[in-house]
Amino acid sequence: MPGLSDRAIDRALVVVAHPDDAEFWAGGTIPLWTDAGTEVTYCVLSDGHAGGFDPATPRSEIPQIRRAEQAEAAALLGVHDVRFFGLDEGGFRQGRRALHVYLVRVIRQVRPQRVVTWSPEWNWQRFRSCHPDHLATGTAVLTAIYPDAGNQFALPQLKDQEDLDAWAVSEVWLINSPAREVNHYVDITETFDRKVAAVRAHTSQIKDPDTLADRLRQRIAPNTPAAGLPEGRLAEAFQVVVTG
Ligand SMILES: [Zn+2]
Repeated sequence: MPGLSDRAIDRALVVVAHPDDAEFWAGGTIPLWTDAGTEVTYCVLSDGHAGGFDPATPRSEIPQIRRAEQAEAAALLGVHDVRFFGLDEGGFRQGRRALHVYLVRVIRQVRPQRVVTWSPEWNWQRFRSCHPDHLATGTAVLTAIYPDAGNQFALPQLKDQEDLDAWAVSEVWLINSPAREVNHYVDITETFDRKVAAVRAHTSQIKDPDTLADRLRQRIAPNTPAAGLPEGRLAEAFQVVVTG
């Protein structure tokens, strides 16, 4: 596998588009890191206003509900620093400049060696995972990492007004990358139950909690043979990109 060993990672930053993205895609991997002492920060760009299934819930309450669910899910995985940017869902295009400055700022504040985020590429095998906000998140995060987060002369106001030094991220772990690009699997057999509990904490999004564990198991089942793991083991898949 390219990149660093987990032992070299003091801090990791997870940037996703919506509450529940991190749990669905890396909810077994993240607790392995926090258990080993890595400090993990979440940065959730939109509150997922358009999510959910129950028309009885007033739409104006959704952001508040989803933020609370996200905080609870994160805590189950050992993540206690959860930041919300509050972009309108689908608002990634309009808010591009503000989002860029925000992401560079968060990277310089958190100083993560490892960043987890969405792949900016279409994955034709999982079209329904290619929400435009996901692709836009991937593009925005990678654009923030290089060049501006690591260039002391870019966005000088962050140094002048907030005393934030440049920071070079060492590696990025992309989720929902096209299969041909996946180059790393994490065995999450031991943390699968925590993943299920964390996904289930997004109560407003889970229509049928009784079948959730089975659905999550089926969703990642193809990763087991792809990772060369014996039957019965479970794995999450990533494309690890060296960035620093
Ligand atoms: Zn999402």
